[in-house]
Amino acid sequence: MKKKSLIIGNWKMNLTPAEATSYLIKLQKKIGEPTSAQVVICPGFLSITAAERALKGTKIELGAQNVASQEPGALTGEIAAKQLEGLVRYVIVGHSERRIHLGERDREIATKLALCHLHHLTPILAVGETLHDYEERLAARVVNSQLTAGLRDLDAEEVEKTIIAYEPVWAIGTGKACSPRYVSQMIAGLRSVISALYGEEVAAKVKFLYGGSINSLNAEAYLDLEGCGGLLVGHESLELDEFAGIVKVAERETAEA
Ligand code: PEP
Repeated sequence: MKKKSLIIGNWKMNLTPAEATSYLIKLQKKIGEPTSAQVVICPGFLSITAAERALKGTKIELGAQNVASQEPGALTGEIAAKQLEGLVRYVIVGHSERRIHLGERDREIATKLALCHLHHLTPILAVGETLHDYEERLAARVVNSQLTAGLRDLDAEEVEKTIIAYEPVWAIGTGKACSPRYVSQMIAGLRSVISALYGEEVAAKVKFLYGGSINSLNAEAYLDLEGCGGLLVGHESLELDEFAGIVKVAERETAEA
């Protein structure tokens, strides 16, 4: 049987604590206790404690959308990995919206990954090329470099536990999900970079996700891919029925495999 697919909802800058609570209670009712898919919700920081309360005793897990690149201290407005420890299990690091709009750099992203591991959080490193990179046939070069730079401070054991989300920027929030075949090639390329740097055994254990305009109708095609261990869902994770539909597809896919 295929390993449990990981379905991650990234709410981005949406939902108040009250809205988060109401959504999660409804989601729980809709999906019940998923057995063959692992569901993770990444609310904004403000709603994490409300989400934690709403999810107590359920199998849905929590993640954060970002983390500071420093340990706790004087850094106004930031949240440290140590503050998230015990509250969430996963942290998205290096999302393209942060790279592009907030100038997040590979060096900072590498530090964030190391701090996540230090504080027992599982980082989800997001990599992906822009439309320009894609059109100029630079995609592989760009994502391989984001991957190598992001992992540079980790040892092999930490690399194994890091999740990689391949998210082409041109597919995020555009309704233009890229072809499953292309995703498969890109994930294989990224895995071979890890293999060259950390060995085949490590590379085989790393979980890869696809993200970019996923919905309940196209989810199956990506979950079917050999190297793809799950999905990172943005916009449609805010639509209760759609997100529940994606989880159900993942449940079915994993159980049938
Ligand atoms: C994302 O932002 O990670 C994402 C995949 O967004 P969307 O599903 O809206 O394309």
